[in-house]
Amino acid sequence: MTAVLKVTGLHVTFDTAAGVVHANNGVSLEAHEGESLGIMGESGCGKTVLCLSLLHLQHPGRIVKGSILLDGRDITRLGETEMERLRGRVITLVPQNQATALNPAYTVRQQLEEALKVRRHGGALHRLARNRHGSEQVSDVQEFKRVFEDLGFESGPVFDRLLRSYPHQLSGGMRQRVLIAMALLMRPRLLIADEPTTALDRAIKAQSLATLQRVRGALTLLVISHDVEAISATCDRVAVMYGGRVIESGPCDKVLSHPRHPYSRLLLAAQRRTRGQPLVAAAAETLNLIDFPEGCAFHPVCPEVTPMCATLAPPESKIDGTMVACHLYHEEAG
Ligand code: SF4
Repeated sequence: MTAVLKVTGLHVTFDTAAGVVHANNGVSLEAHEGESLGIMGESGCGKTVLCLSLLHLQHPGRIVKGSILLDGRDITRLGETEMERLRGRVITLVPQNQATALNPAYTVRQQLEEALKVRRHGGALHRLARNRHGSEQVSDVQEFKRVFEDLGFESGPVFDRLLRSYPHQLSGGMRQRVLIAMALLMRPRLLIADEPTTALDRAIKAQSLATLQRVRGALTLLVISHDVEAISATCDRVAVMYGGRVIESGPCDKVLSHPRHPYSRLLLAAQRRTRGQPLVAAAAETLNLIDFPEGCAFHPVCPEVTPMCATLAPPESKIDGTMVACHLYHEEAG
């Protein structure tokens, strides 16, 4: 299978007054053509920095090591002009905050038209936005209809009203559908959905997941989330992150039902806790990303720590179609 995205040994740091923050510490992962890959982990695990790095928006963070291959081309070496051509059109981000991601001063139709302008004429959105009132009027309602129908929204009077609406007149689920429609209008190679269910109530969350399920398979999808339900509903494979690296990955049905890494087990147990069960001790005691621990980053809080864990970083072991970075499995992997 062709790797649309291949990240290898990515290190991203931030210089702060307190010291150098190591936000990504050797992230490696792949997403293949038409595949949906979930990036799962708690706040501070490095998943958002990874997502921003894929777009060169990690500033003031610096990519200090590693590569990001998009269709075989290393985009860490590209300048800002070339990245402007890729952003939106080749890699598109559906941001997590649907309430503020749309422009409140323009109708849905105007914002969809702007996305089409970017696709057809290239360049950065902010440059085109300056010509918003210029002579060029790009309108292709048929294309808007097709995209919304793909997302399960029938055309008709309700659709016409949607196009005339301003963002504040829409529900959270509908705003997110508009954002996904804008992303699809760009016909990207890679679509990144950043925390698609954050701050949504259950009904809207279900709508949001249903929308992503419709997109699944049509393009390569990266779903960044701390929410196991969102990952299992929308992804083929999952990569669990801790301490700025992927510590376990594989098909969702294997990793989510039988996690091997002690951190993955605690994370999933904490999320699946049912009423009456005791709270699983939080795995993610906040990791100090400046004074990074030697050996396995999880060793200060790991319930299964062994003597070598404090000094030796665990290698990646392949077991039964999954990858796990933990000394407990090194021999099992052979
Ligand atoms: Fe725990 Fe050691 Fe495995 Fe790290 S390598 S998760 S500390 S057992």
